[in-house]
Amino acid sequence: MKIIENLFLVPGVVANPYILVDADGLTIIDTGLPRSERKILAYVSSLSRSACDVKRIILTHADLDHVGGLTALHKSTGGRTFASRIEADAIASGVPSRQIKASGFSVMRLMFSLLRPFMKAIPFQVDEILTDGQSLPVLGGLRVIETSGHTPGHISLFAPSIGVLFSGDSLVTDESGIHGSRSGLTWDDAKAREAERKQAALGARIVCPGHGPVIMDATGKFPL
Ligand SMILES: [Zn+2]
Repeated sequence: MKIIENLFLVPGVVANPYILVDADGLTIIDTGLPRSERKILAYVSSLSRSACDVKRIILTHADLDHVGGLTALHKSTGGRTFASRIEADAIASGVPSRQIKASGFSVMRLMFSLLRPFMKAIPFQVDEILTDGQSLPVLGGLRVIETSGHTPGHISLFAPSIGVLFSGDSLVTDESGIHGSRSGLTWDDAKAREAERKQAALGARIVCPGHGPVIMDATGKFPL
């Protein structure tokens, strides 16, 4: 699905993967559950591009629904891989970067606990560590925003020149708007609220979340 010029959402994947198009090639943000690489690569083909056009694969955090396709996608594309230090360490161990909280009921938590024995991530060594404030040469400058809370090393990516924020799971969306990280899956609630405030202050026009629809007119829709 085309969001704006040079920005696409791969449909039908749990945890939205995004494809960003630059003159030097493609950047993918997040890789879905295991086996999602097939849908991602099929979408790359639909853009009349090939796997070797994928230059970068960026992970917002180490949850399985974001890193599941990573190993296969890297193998097919040879794209350089990026994550924060904390999340890269978790990805290298093939585990999430935090435990899902034991208290409280959550459908997502139940789903994760049921699926986990069958769907382990393959341990993967990320090429490059991203830090807060760093800018990548993507979409006119893609800034790394530290948004810990959902997980300890969660990052978002912000492209100021086009006002697009990729929030991973630090913000989720639905028909009613933009919300913070779901509580049952949140490592630190106070930090998660801090990450919401930080992102609300960026002035993003478009929010591309890990889960839920892309919000095209995000101004004034952030959680307070
Ligand atoms: Zn997550």
